[in-house]
Amino acid sequence: MNMLIKNRKYATEITADDDGERVSIAGWVHEKRDLGGVFFLIVRDLKGVAQVTLHKGEGEQQELLGRMKKVPRESVVAIEGEVKSEKKAPNGYEILPKRMEVLSEASQVLPLDTTGKVGAELDTRLDARFMDLRTERTKQIFIIRSRVLKAMRDFFDERGFIEINTSKIVSAATEGGTALFPISYFEREAFLNQSPQLYKQMLMASGFDRVYEIAPIFRAEEHDTTKHLNEATSVDIEVAFVSDDEVMKILEELIAFVYSKVVDYPGLAKLNLNLEVPKMPFRRITYDEAIELLSGAGEQIEWGEDLGTSAEHTLGGIIGELYFITDWPCAIKPFYAQPVAGDKDICDAFDLMHPRLELASGSQRVHSYELLKKNIESKGLSADNFEFYLDAFRFGMPPHAGWGLGVERLLMSMLEIENIREVVLFPRDRRRLAP
Ligand code: ATP
Ligand code: MG
Repeated sequence: MNMLIKNRKYATEITADDDGERVSIAGWVHEKRDLGGVFFLIVRDLKGVAQVTLHKGEGEQQELLGRMKKVPRESVVAIEGEVKSEKKAPNGYEILPKRMEVLSEASQVLPLDTTGKVGAELDTRLDARFMDLRTERTKQIFIIRSRVLKAMRDFFDERGFIEINTSKIVSAATEGGTALFPISYFEREAFLNQSPQLYKQMLMASGFDRVYEIAPIFRAEEHDTTKHLNEATSVDIEVAFVSDDEVMKILEELIAFVYSKVVDYPGLAKLNLNLEVPKMPFRRITYDEAIELLSGAGEQIEWGEDLGTSAEHTLGGIIGELYFITDWPCAIKPFYAQPVAGDKDICDAFDLMHPRLELASGSQRVHSYELLKKNIESKGLSADNFEFYLDAFRFGMPPHAGWGLGVERLLMSMLEIENIREVVLFPRDRRRLAP
């Protein structure tokens, strides 16, 4: 291994206190500035930037100066030199170079500007995502995404959940034949799973009382919006021996916990955000109250009709914070949602809403084999296709409840990002299949 790289420090690991020390750094050529008597090379790594300063007119340095001037921006270099305390430089120091190795030379014409001075269209950025990730804002989004996922795992771990991984190749649709990607599976047709719903419920019959999964879901939805992906990441939980109320509490606690792990992250500053941990308990309104509020705002929804984007925005405008909508008409909820006691038309189902969009859906589940089978058929589906699932309800299935939360929806709402594609490394949408 190249010794320069082996001993390299991140730009932020070096401080003015290292004055006089020999160090090596490695990273991308962020900027070059020629100020007549002095030449600056700004080198960027994961953590920050370091200023490499070369004073001209020192004989032996001529060759180095020539190479620094020539190396194209965004090339990868390793530099060894002496630290000098310098108040005006980033992190309070500069490096007086002795040696530079060009590890990989970049082409002259760059697809994007990485300094953030020249903006670019989202499509251009996604086409050159590897390069877009070199910009500070984009980089921070994905560091925050990683923090969010870690916070979630810590949260579930602390509460005794078991992490599961269920198959993404399935023979039947979770909720019917729509919005599925068919694939060829040897001589048969199979599908990419749109949700781990059926599997996490089957696990409730196994005695795994509390499970969670963080995994991709595939939705073959044709629509091209700023909140839908064809491959998204879902956080799913299922809990046995509890009611929907319990899992709603888990959901709001999870959201507050995740926020609390992000609010004091310094990288947030790059997104110009002032985050606050949402207050619990979140407000709860019923579906009936929602349509009443909408009607008061001049938006008429027939009872039994789903709430579209416009209704979501109107309600969000009225309520202005995270809230739950409960007691949905069963007709617009999946077959596995449990009707409330004494009313077969209303289900113990809920959606968690951000003022801008839906974040999660969940419910108390039907755990009676007979009712579940009847519900599947009354939704026009064939119970035969669900035999593997229904079987789990015939030999001892406890009452249970759960929900699914979109990771990207949570991130985009939390970080006030307009387009969901921004929070996915390599988004899949109606038009985009590469990179
Ligand atoms: P919407 O009505 O907003 O399209 P949905 O009700 O169809 O969402 P669910 O089937 O309830 O979605 O899925 C649970 C959660 O998974 C949603 O609340 C959302 O956060 C996320 N999700 C679902 N579909 C998508 C998608 N196409 N892209 C991104 N996230 C999604
Ligand atoms: Mg939903």
